[in-house]
Amino acid sequence: MKKSVIFVFVAVLGLAITLLVSVPAPKRQAYVVPETSEEADWEQIRHGSSKVTFKTLLTGVVKVPVSGMLNLDNPKTLSYLQEKAASEGDLAGSVDVEVYAHWIRHPEKGDIFIDSGLDARFRNTARGSLKGLISQWIVEDSVQLAGQDILSQVEESNINVKMVFLTHVHGDHSSGLPVLPLGIPVVLGKNESLHQYPLIMYNDHFDNVSELQTLDFDGPGVLNVVPLGKMIDLLGDGSLWAISTSGHTAGHVSYLVNATDGWVLLTGDASHTRWGFENNVVPGWSEDERLAKKSLEALRTFSRENMDVRVVFGHER
Ligand SMILES: [Zn+2]
Repeated sequence: MKKSVIFVFVAVLGLAITLLVSVPAPKRQAYVVPETSEEADWEQIRHGSSKVTFKTLLTGVVKVPVSGMLNLDNPKTLSYLQEKAASEGDLAGSVDVEVYAHWIRHPEKGDIFIDSGLDARFRNTARGSLKGLISQWIVEDSVQLAGQDILSQVEESNINVKMVFLTHVHGDHSSGLPVLPLGIPVVLGKNESLHQYPLIMYNDHFDNVSELQTLDFDGPGVLNVVPLGKMIDLLGDGSLWAISTSGHTAGHVSYLVNATDGWVLLTGDASHTRWGFENNVVPGWSEDERLAKKSLEALRTFSRENMDVRVVFGHER
């Protein structure tokens, strides 16, 4: 047999095994959207009083390719990187970015997380719980100081996590799930898939998740707000909103919090960085670039029109 034929055969077989031997995913059920006070008026909601506290927890820093954070096809990105290279010496192929879990404390619903941060496995290893052949190209290295891992911070601040909402299921956002209380609901966008491919890319983040709930932006209780589009009042009292921002991933969700010290917009990885947000450059890693642009545009317009709202980017504060 010719060498090329053998190569193709092995490649196809490898792919087939990878796709077939997939990790069983937890069952999904729809997130039940609470009844809101009927005719919700957005302006009224925006100026409503707040009852939740909000804090971003830094759980470590990961080194990732610049090409993932910023779309290199955009000429603005190239000139930005060249300018940076001129001042810093060499053209950076990688960049260090922060990884967060966001903590909301609600007087009745208790402690809620948006994303889960990194667990302690990132303390002494480059990629922590991220496994598979291509994980080294996604996260090249990591730095986590003592006490920064999510469990240490949960214990330190007496956080009793009742529920986790995810922006999306990339490993740097779900890494903390295994150390959070067993049985708590984990909520994600309906179109989000877990992307668990043994050999290529996998992790154990969802192995102990028994309740996976999905947000349906075409379902009941969805509010259409200009310019953000489809939004869900997650707790029914206007304190926490989910915004459909597909593009980076199919079921990506951004969040808006009416916190006691002001409103906060969590873009998630609809924009990893401040520079990308301000310069209208979508992430290099975009499953659907057209949707990513649309989502980023909506968030940018909202931010321009609502200057009092603090913006926290996916990997930059
Ligand atoms: Zn990310």
